[in-house]
Amino acid sequence: MNTVYLNGQFVAAQDARVSVFDRGFLFGDSIYEVIPYYRGVGFRLEEHLQRLSHSLRAVRIDAEADWIAIMDELVLRNGGGNLSVYLQVSRGNAGKRSAVYSDDLEPTVFACCNPIRDIYQDGADQVQGIRAIVVADQRWLRCDIKATGLLPNILVLQQARDHGADEALLIRDQLLTEGTSSNLFIVKHGVLYTPKRSSEILGGITRELVLDLADENGIQYQEIDIDYETLISADEVWISSSTRAVVPVIEVDNQPVADGAKGPLWRQMFELFAGYQRRLMTGE
Ligand code: PMP
Repeated sequence: MNTVYLNGQFVAAQDARVSVFDRGFLFGDSIYEVIPYYRGVGFRLEEHLQRLSHSLRAVRIDAEADWIAIMDELVLRNGGGNLSVYLQVSRGNAGKRSAVYSDDLEPTVFACCNPIRDIYQDGADQVQGIRAIVVADQRWLRCDIKATGLLPNILVLQQARDHGADEALLIRDQLLTEGTSSNLFIVKHGVLYTPKRSSEILGGITRELVLDLADENGIQYQEIDIDYETLISADEVWISSSTRAVVPVIEVDNQPVADGAKGPLWRQMFELFAGYQRRLMTGE
């Protein structure tokens, strides 16, 4: 079942080998994408491929491949169904450790699958609200690039776990940016708010879809600066990501968000999201 893709070949995970001189391993000189597949069908593929191109261009890795063919085949070889594809491209293996690189390196392309839940099949009642803490955003200033150097994200996520929370929300210069692996939304008086798109956050594919769905369905939204006070006095807080979709945050820094229940606008967005997903998957 666990087949991975590495540099042109589909192999059993235990047989996949990457050099110790791969720049992804030595320097985190690599970028990645995570793309959900539901019932074997890729979700928002074009958008993910655009972001992949953006990341590659931004770090000047010159890699071309039929990404869709690779991912479709990988999903098929792993039994189809509900899977996320992790796709990583590193600058490659220079045969030595040296920060400088030459442009003739062959990028290393790796992809693997992970099972994901189709929460829209289960329904809104099955979704658990999560707890979050707020911590300083200590990442670099190019968070629009989906780079694999995730040490700041990993450390604060672990800090969140140590506090019995599920996600850390990041704050820089008094303003909330996003979660360690998610974008942030709040609701106040029926209006949806999310931090402005900038190089300080990842341009989330789910974030864009939420805003599109809001737009199409008459939900008022605004991209604004969100400070801590605004966050903790919100009526609803959500996070979004490709593997979790839209999840309500019911507690921030040990304080309930409003009455601590999943909010009505979240429910509405969940249903809109579910409808969108169903149409895409069934081709209706
Ligand atoms: N921000 C960060 C830092 C992330 O790692 C992710 C997950 N890819 C997101 C936001 C959400 O992006 P998407 O909706 O494209 O998964």
